[in-house]
Amino acid sequence: MSAKKVKVRFAPSPTGDLHVGNIRTALFDWAYARHTGGTFLFRIEDTDTTRVTDEYIQAAIDTLKWLGLQWDEGPEVGGPNGPYLQSQRLDIYAQWAQKFLDQKDAYYCYCSPDELEAVREEQRKANVAPGYNGHCRELTADQIAAFKAQGREGVVRMRMPEGTTSFVDEIRGEVTFDHKFVPDFVLVRADGSPLYTLAVAVDDILMGVTHVLRGEDLLSSTPRQIRVYQAMGVALADYPVFAHLPFVMGQDNAKLSKRNGEVSIAWYREQGYLPEAICNYLALLGWSPGDDVENISMKELTELFTVEKVHSSPARFDMKKLEAINGDKIRALSVEDFAKWTIPFLKKAAIIEGTDAEIALVKQALPLIQERIVKLDEAPQLLKFLFVKEFAIDSDAVSKVNDESAKSILKRAQSELEQLSTWNHVSIEAALRTSLIEEMGLKPRIAFTALRIATTGSTISPPLFESMELLGKQACLARISLALSL
Ligand code: GLU
Repeated sequence: MSAKKVKVRFAPSPTGDLHVGNIRTALFDWAYARHTGGTFLFRIEDTDTTRVTDEYIQAAIDTLKWLGLQWDEGPEVGGPNGPYLQSQRLDIYAQWAQKFLDQKDAYYCYCSPDELEAVREEQRKANVAPGYNGHCRELTADQIAAFKAQGREGVVRMRMPEGTTSFVDEIRGEVTFDHKFVPDFVLVRADGSPLYTLAVAVDDILMGVTHVLRGEDLLSSTPRQIRVYQAMGVALADYPVFAHLPFVMGQDNAKLSKRNGEVSIAWYREQGYLPEAICNYLALLGWSPGDDVENISMKELTELFTVEKVHSSPARFDMKKLEAINGDKIRALSVEDFAKWTIPFLKKAAIIEGTDAEIALVKQALPLIQERIVKLDEAPQLLKFLFVKEFAIDSDAVSKVNDESAKSILKRAQSELEQLSTWNHVSIEAALRTSLIEEMGLKPRIAFTALRIATTGSTISPPLFESMELLGKQACLARISLALSL
């Protein structure tokens, strides 16, 4: 790649929550900027006011922060090329559009939507490539006056000369577009608002972007952007380098979408995926540092990331792999960090309010579940037995402690535990193994399931004896009595 100081941009159009594909792009942009010691620019492409909302813009900003993809130029942090919201740059686009009109690179087109549709219909029938037919390219002053007299508002269209556009894509190699398939395109709508192709090209140049790393779905817009650079008078050496990242496919090999997978990053966040796990997983979606690396930190990513190692073939999203990585990242957390991530989930599920005593107990209990959960949202269900004010046994488990054999187990356990002078998981386990397994001859699974249900209220809990230790002798005995009274 070129020797210029790198500037990469992430430029989403927040028409919804950022999705997996957006974030993979943002991550690669960020990693490339960090790897090269360059600048990571964040720009909000919000010119489509019918679809972009303030909430989605704020959510995009929050998501990047949550993921740890801090930008050097962009919303909130500012920078020398602002504003970074395209809706605040409308006069810049208008000036360029006017320049293109003056240069005759662009022209006003007065065709109505119905007329354009009729042209497309003809093209379909004649089996030729669809696209604008150049109807308004050479209008005379009289024709223009006549259209205006009819009350028609023109759109500004860019003139595509005959020929081809070629550029070297850093991932795909040389790509050539025949202009037969790139018809004259709209730069400015009849209401004066700019279209994506105009705004993105103008901004990439004015903001000094050197590298455009983005999704493959935008490959076909590149010749139009290059046409805008030409009209702006940009020298070839100052065009950004393009690199189009491979599609992210669902398990069914169709492009990942709401239909075949969860696409919204907000969903992953709510489920309790750690940002580091998401970044780790997405980093390996279409890129690999060489060996069969599965676990990569953000620091390693920035050290190792090069565009040369991005694949050109589509990547397949694998939820199981993401879950496995999330479990790994959870296990690698310190208790302090694990608590920091988990406490909001416990609060949201109304398991705790957040008092000091509760937090202290949470920290004691977390090591019991750290090995077992793959997502943070599993924590409330596993830990709620420690905090419930009014203890009750899960309805689907009640029948398992309600029969005579369960009651005899619980009765024996009750008398053994009452006598215990030292209350910890070692002494609890020893007492129960001797009495229930050795002396009563019970199978451990049977004996301990009854106790698990009686003390934690559920068939699924953290390790039984440690759970009983944390719960305390009094509470355990009270719960066993309750189960016996059922
Ligand atoms: N704003 C465009 C989008 O979200 C992407 C712009 C670009 O990366 O060129 O689809």
